[in-house]
Amino acid sequence: MDLYEYQARDLFRRHGVPVLPDRVATSPEEARNAAQALLAEGAELLVVKAQVKTGGRGKAGGVKLARTPEEAAEKAQAILGLDIKGHIVETLLIASGADIAEEYYFSILLDRSKRRHLALCSKEGGMDIETLAKERPEALAKVALDPLSGIDDTIAREILHEAGFAPERADRIAPVLVKLWEVFTQEDATLVEVNPLVLATDGSLWAVDGKVTLDDNARFRHPDHEALVDVKTQDPREAAAKAAGLNYVRLEGEVGIIGNGAGLVMSTLDVVAIAGEDLGVRPANFLDIGGGASAQVMAKGLEVILGDEQVRSVFVNVFGGITACDAVANGILEALEVLGDQAAKPIVVRLDGNKVEEGRAIISAANHPLIHMVETMDEAARTAAELAAAK
Ligand code: GDP
Ligand code: MN
Repeated sequence: MDLYEYQARDLFRRHGVPVLPDRVATSPEEARNAAQALLAEGAELLVVKAQVKTGGRGKAGGVKLARTPEEAAEKAQAILGLDIKGHIVETLLIASGADIAEEYYFSILLDRSKRRHLALCSKEGGMDIETLAKERPEALAKVALDPLSGIDDTIAREILHEAGFAPERADRIAPVLVKLWEVFTQEDATLVEVNPLVLATDGSLWAVDGKVTLDDNARFRHPDHEALVDVKTQDPREAAAKAAGLNYVRLEGEVGIIGNGAGLVMSTLDVVAIAGEDLGVRPANFLDIGGGASAQVMAKGLEVILGDEQVRSVFVNVFGGITACDAVANGILEALEVLGDQAAKPIVVRLDGNKVEEGRAIISAANHPLIHMVETMDEAARTAAELAAAK
């Protein structure tokens, strides 16, 4: 899960990373009030910033300076509703601004290819990292991190030395890098980026922009991260599936897919992609209902997929194991009964594994008008693709 800047700044604060005061606003009026409050607290400069989950806001006109509440409201008016790389601005951050002397870059990320964490650091922050890496690769220090020891004071100084910082500068910056490592590891992040990390004219140091990606697989360790989920922009189907405990990812295609076990579902996506290639149809989703495919879980899965208007056919691919095929077959039929008229798309069912004969017999006996039973996975994929293409 990617965080908004205002959420990243909150996390930073909690871990002692220096961040200037700020307020969230969703209208020019709120921006005016926020600005007033910040000025009353001692801010000398204000920054009005679009809150969208994409970079390059500054260049797109989504970051503007202001000095008075009136000016903040005007800038808010100009930024609200902007389309920044397909993201419409609905929320603003009104922040106390820094009087910038220098802008640095610092990030910690997961380098999957090297199986290491990686720290990136540069004295030339501000511009986006891709541009920096391309135009001035020598100005970007890359230091591999031991995931167990991470960044302590010594490593922080090594990183800063590598990036060309003088030792006196490092004295000031090193503690911030150590705290950013704390954010990364204690919050289970896969990315923590500060660009720019600002040295102000008075010598103080501030994280002026923050980009954080949290590892969703570690969500169970962080009940407080639930509150960071952006319900507004979440796909409603993904939200419904998640609430039902299903492992669902929506894709672009037309063939809905349900299977039990992540490996089986992934290979089902592959065979459907191949079968659909010439027909111009593709898998519509990933949905793993897990090992114990009960009728209720099957119903929930079918409900999510059948309710997706882009889906034109569904492929249910189940390999019976602990939950045998007869139970799965009953589950599918019960699910269709529960859904009633909601189920109005052809469903291709392929069963194999434990009690396959019994399972197939149950489906055959039901003679359900929507169900096409097919024996092999390849054949089933072809049937599902053809049904989707024919519609
Ligand atoms: P981004 O364009 O999405 O990366 O947004 P940033 O928050 O990084 O802001 C873009 C640029 O706006 C920064 O590189 C600064 O040049 C400028 N800016 C942002 N915050 C401040 C601030 O507090 N003071 C000043 N003077 N400029 C700022
Ligand atoms: Mn930035």
